[in-house]
Amino acid sequence: MELKIKRPHLSAILEVAGRSEVEVCGFLFGKREGDNIAVEEVRFVGNRLNSPAAFEMEPVEMVEAIEGAEKKGLEVVGIFHSHLKCPPRPSGRDLKGMELWPVVWLIVDNEGNYGAYLPEGGKVREVRVRVI
Ligand code: ZN
Repeated sequence: MELKIKRPHLSAILEVAGRSEVEVCGFLFGKREGDNIAVEEVRFVGNRLNSPAAFEMEPVEMVEAIEGAEKKGLEVVGIFHSHLKCPPRPSGRDLKGMELWPVVWLIVDNEGNYGAYLPEGGKVREVRVRVI
């Protein structure tokens, strides 16, 4: 399994995360090609918790984002969010969220590090990120 993401998309997430005082979050829209996931669009969604330690996407924005992507023939292939002052690995809270949204979770920190994880059969495995 591999997550393919374009350099400008990843840079945009890292840049916004790097200057935000709260966790930033949103969707990765794109297509699955067998075992590979190609990100074609990144969409930020407001964090309604406005917290440096947790996120919840604004529900209305979330629905609008998904509907917009579906019109373009894209699906939710991933969720991204940022961590502040802690490594880009799933927190306990993230693991619960991953059960509800079993897609790839791209987690970045505010220093330019990132990792991607996929929940599968009660476990979480790391997914390779290929920046193109
Ligand atoms: Zn998190």
